[in-house]
Amino acid sequence: MEKSKFGIIASFISVVALTVLLSLLTTDLLRNSEMSKETNKPLSINATMTIAEIAENNGIKVSSLKEALLIRDDKDLTKTIIEMNLSEESTKAMITKTLNFEAEEASKNFKLIFAKFISWIAFLVLIFRLIRKGKVTTKARKYLLLGSFLLFGVMFGSDPNSMSTITDMVTGYAVNGIFFPPRFIALIIFLFFGFLANKIFCGWACPFGALQDFILRLNRDSKDRKGVFPQYKVSFALSNTVRILFFVVFVLVAFLWGTSIIEVINPFNTFNPAKLTYTGISFILIMLIASLFIYRPWCHFFCPFGLVGWIVEKFSRFKIKVNYSSCVACEECAKACPSQAMTAILKQDQVIPDCFACGTCINACPTKSITFASGKTEEVPKDKFIKKKSAHWNSKLSI
Ligand code: SF4
Ligand code: SF4
Repeated sequence: MEKSKFGIIASFISVVALTVLLSLLTTDLLRNSEMSKETNKPLSINATMTIAEIAENNGIKVSSLKEALLIRDDKDLTKTIIEMNLSEESTKAMITKTLNFEAEEASKNFKLIFAKFISWIAFLVLIFRLIRKGKVTTKARKYLLLGSFLLFGVMFGSDPNSMSTITDMVTGYAVNGIFFPPRFIALIIFLFFGFLANKIFCGWACPFGALQDFILRLNRDSKDRKGVFPQYKVSFALSNTVRILFFVVFVLVAFLWGTSIIEVINPFNTFNPAKLTYTGISFILIMLIASLFIYRPWCHFFCPFGLVGWIVEKFSRFKIKVNYSSCVACEECAKACPSQAMTAILKQDQVIPDCFACGTCINACPTKSITFASGKTEEVPKDKFIKKKSAHWNSKLSI
């Protein structure tokens, strides 16, 4: 039975509203510690104060001060900062850095984070096996995507997420001068999935990615081949250029002005609605409405992890592969792929857009010529696609 346009709009509104309401509920019930401690209280320090007085006047633990100012001997607590060969400015900077680090650590619920990572790994192993066996059917895809953003977004919350490992690391360093090792370890884990199996993490385990993907699938026919409302494949040259520029601006603003342009529009706040601002709500709504018509607009146009993941997937062990001996060049896979990726993979273009390992192309192929496999890529026979030239590098929109 084909979907009605009214049904699609109603489903879209229900999914977005329920996601936000349930996230509000779970933030309250499960993740109160996620409301991070702010440490921007100005420090009262002058050159004649002893270290012990600084601790007392600013309500800072002595142990934190000792760590911040590298004090090993308790006798030094009675010295003034001049006697310690420190200036007011450098003392403030060192203390602020340590306090920010401690606040970051205190704001994390490490048990919940550990459970999230274990669930992510188990979920991705399942997805990997299903894609390898070509068993991600249209119906299964919807349930898996729904399960993904409900579990990794609504239940476990927005933090940590693949994008924030990059953005928080840049802003943490640029603004507060801190480098938080657990964040770096998380980034390595996320990138490991990229080296292993293309963008399988983005494709299935990132909650905001899964939410956008789920919304796109709401507006697809029952075979998951094309949109009920028209859907568009945006030129990769355009989306990737915007994504690179956005990343450059983000880094420059963080280092030059000490602020994050992403925080105010952070789409992961969908799963932590208490942090949403009016600008954030408007931006996220635009992204989610656009997701009905364009495949993962946030991922393709803005996400810093999307950009890094796109580079990493070039070195991935498992990828979409085409068996050209059985391929009949019907291009059903390219038509069904929600982006320009399959057109480029099929014709072996030099620039391959992001492939989210969604498996749509595998299901669409009538001759079962597409697999998610490792090993050497078979070369495309000359003249196989001679009539139709791939258009993904052009700046046009195609339905
Ligand atoms: S590119 Fe998309 S799926 Fe990947 S981290 Fe960013 S938002 Fe998530
Ligand atoms: S090529 Fe397209 S359809 Fe195939 S897995 Fe990648 S993104 Fe999905």
